[in-house]
Amino acid sequence: MDQGIIPSAAAINSLIQELNKLPGIGPKSAQRLAFHLLRASEEQTNLLAEAIRSLKQKISLCSTCFNVTESDPCPICRNDKRDHSQICIVEQPQDILALEHTGIYHGLYHVLHGAISPTEGVGTDDIKIKELLSRLQNGSVKELILATNPNLEGEQTAMYLSRLISPLGIRVTRLARGLPFGTELEYADDVTLTSAIEGRQQF
Ligand code: ZN
Repeated sequence: MDQGIIPSAAAINSLIQELNKLPGIGPKSAQRLAFHLLRASEEQTNLLAEAIRSLKQKISLCSTCFNVTESDPCPICRNDKRDHSQICIVEQPQDILALEHTGIYHGLYHVLHGAISPTEGVGTDDIKIKELLSRLQNGSVKELILATNPNLEGEQTAMYLSRLISPLGIRVTRLARGLPFGTELEYADDVTLTSAIEGRQQF
């Protein structure tokens, strides 16, 4: 028998198993969460169940920037007050949350949904690069800010995009200053991210 699995309580065991599949949730945490939910009110557990269910029903990807959204195009792409000549390239939708939280960036975004990683078999066709290139076709974009993570995969991806896009005559900049190597954008604090956006350099 697996450690932490309770005999003869199928409903609890299956919840523990599902929670255990989530990132950062080990068997002990999964068990703690499952018993917490068991003690919680029915209303509370229904709200959680409903939030999880509607996640897949209501949320889709913006067909322009590939951010998560309930409407397509997403509110950022639709917003005329934002600077449509700037596109900030991020790996994941949650990076947009981190950058928006700083309140300093007013351009558009493009979510790659990953980073180039030969070791994990992620190539240039596996992330939203074709889609990015087609957004650059009409010539309205003047600056591309590479905000991929400051780690090996993020750097490789930034390097690839820079080589691909610089010849198109678009200014390519990279967030760098203050972001320690090996970290992920979504965990950076506002002050660090703000200085990284302000201090972005030609790539
Ligand atoms: Zn969008």
